Amino acid sequence: MEKSRKWKLFLGAGILAVYAFASLLAFWRMPERAAAWSEDTVPKRIALTFDDGPYPNLTRQLLDGLRERGVKASFFVVGENAKAYPDVIETMYEDGHLIGNHTYHHVQLTEVGEEKFKEEIRMTNAVLSEITGETPTFIRPPYGSWNKKYEEELNLFPVLWTVDPLDWCCNSSQCVYQRVVTTVKENDIILLHDCYETSVTAALSIVDSLQAQGYEFVTVDELLLE
Ligand SMILES: [Zn+2]
Repeated sequence: MEKSRKWKLFLGAGILAVYAFASLLAFWRMPERAAAWSEDTVPKRIALTFDDGPYPNLTRQLLDGLRERGVKASFFVVGENAKAYPDVIETMYEDGHLIGNHTYHHVQLTEVGEEKFKEEIRMTNAVLSEITGETPTFIRPPYGSWNKKYEEELNLFPVLWTVDPLDWCCNSSQCVYQRVVTTVKENDIILLHDCYETSVTAALSIVDSLQAQGYEFVTVDELLLE
């Protein structure tokens, strides 16, 4: 074989080897790259829920903060409060939050008998649908006490929670904030009450911190109905 031909063959084999090695390397790194991609582009979803409102000043303060941050939350409101402050419910609705039932007088449903059980829920649904034109389909039963027997007839889906910082026994917003951000994970439903200033302040700090960690805040229907 003449010298230059040998040299060409040698060069060709070398190029082939480099190409094969590069392909192999790319193949090996593929799962790693896919994982990095999904972490960067698919946000971790989470839901903030607020019970017992609306309270005119605090709930408005909360709604303003959520609007500034582009966050949708879920509000389980007490019928008599909604009746007293329909304008707050209107803003809540216009801002795109989910509005759910939390009974008319904040009663423990399993303690009041069948008739009162249904009445508490229907009265609240009636007040809310009069204000927003929409009948709620979600209920958070006070104290988490529910009877599945009436679920179908009332056409309501109960929503409990996965993170409860016990905000009612925190005397600072820092306490609520710490209890949430140190335990929270993807798909959690966080329970807060918009009747405490500490909870409203904490909620907005929680949003800022979790948004920076790549969380996306959604309403509970988006987490539950999939
Ligand atoms: Zn409650």
